[in-house]
Amino acid sequence: MLRNLSLITPSGRLTLGNHLGAFRGMVAAQATGDCFYGVADLHAMTTAHDPRVLRDTIAEVTALFLAVGLDPGRAVLFRQSDVPAHRELAYLLECTAYTGELARMIQYKEKGKDQPSTRVSLYTYPALMAADILLYRPSRVPVGDDQRQHVELTRDLAVRFNNTYGPVFTVPEIVTPAAGARVMDLQDPTRKMSKSAAPGVDGGVIRLLDPPDVVRRKIARAVTDSETGPGAVRSSDEKPGVSNLLDILAACGGSAAGLATYGALKAAVTDAVVAELEPIQQGYADLAADPAYVADVFAAGAERCRQVTAPVLLAAEAAIGLG
Ligand code: AMP
Repeated sequence: MLRNLSLITPSGRLTLGNHLGAFRGMVAAQATGDCFYGVADLHAMTTAHDPRVLRDTIAEVTALFLAVGLDPGRAVLFRQSDVPAHRELAYLLECTAYTGELARMIQYKEKGKDQPSTRVSLYTYPALMAADILLYRPSRVPVGDDQRQHVELTRDLAVRFNNTYGPVFTVPEIVTPAAGARVMDLQDPTRKMSKSAAPGVDGGVIRLLDPPDVVRRKIARAVTDSETGPGAVRSSDEKPGVSNLLDILAACGGSAAGLATYGALKAAVTDAVVAELEPIQQGYADLAADPAYVADVFAAGAERCRQVTAPVLLAAEAAIGLG
């Protein structure tokens, strides 16, 4: 059986992009019966952060896992920091990785290299990510382009560890999933809609918990272009904003048939997005009334993860000379 493993970092309030590009596939994959889905809270501390904001974001993301339809009866839902093996194996992998290969990682090069206040964790987190994967022994890891380098490093570390200390890890194959929905920023449609956009400059980002009037306002201000007249509402490379709105409309089950103006397009997109978010927001409100349920689900998930990962960590410790 193929094991599905996906982690989402609570580095910001989740967006329509996270729903269409990640959660939908995670919900569908539950039918395969072997899914581990985690809130990667340790990865949310590699750049300056406020503990209160982090705590609130973790709570929101955790409840959203359930509100979007992930089912604790069919998938193991957990918080990364509740499973200490992630941190413990990460250190052993740091003792396997070379500084040169971590220095080549794109995130570090773009966000931290040569800056005096860069956190050490921004440099070392790829070892934690390798641990996140290797602990669960998946045979295949589906990755989009932006994550490919991390999984290549994971494979390199697994091969090096196995060759040096003994065969502990399954070396996962990298598979490229069918291109999923890629939702672009409404204000700058050449950029991906990102949960890390700072509050105040996130007018192009639809958050999963944005109320309908906020969704309406953000879509009303979305960039289109200056073409008017019949045929203006169509996808094309020269019209990234319009193409993005059409993609969102289709992904949310709406139809562009008969839409002649950008105003009509925006109204249709608003209706489709509001309808898509409505059950998620209702589910979230129901869960807010029962926080003990969410806590119980994630406690049980962490317990299951501790069982599944313990033999892998023990084998790695024994092989490296600690056991
Ligand atoms: P991130 O928010 O970049 O940490 O990504 C978490 C998950 O959501 C990954 O599976 C991403 O591919 C997916 N995701 C994030 N933003 C978008 C977006 N704008 N469009 C499609 N998928 C996205």
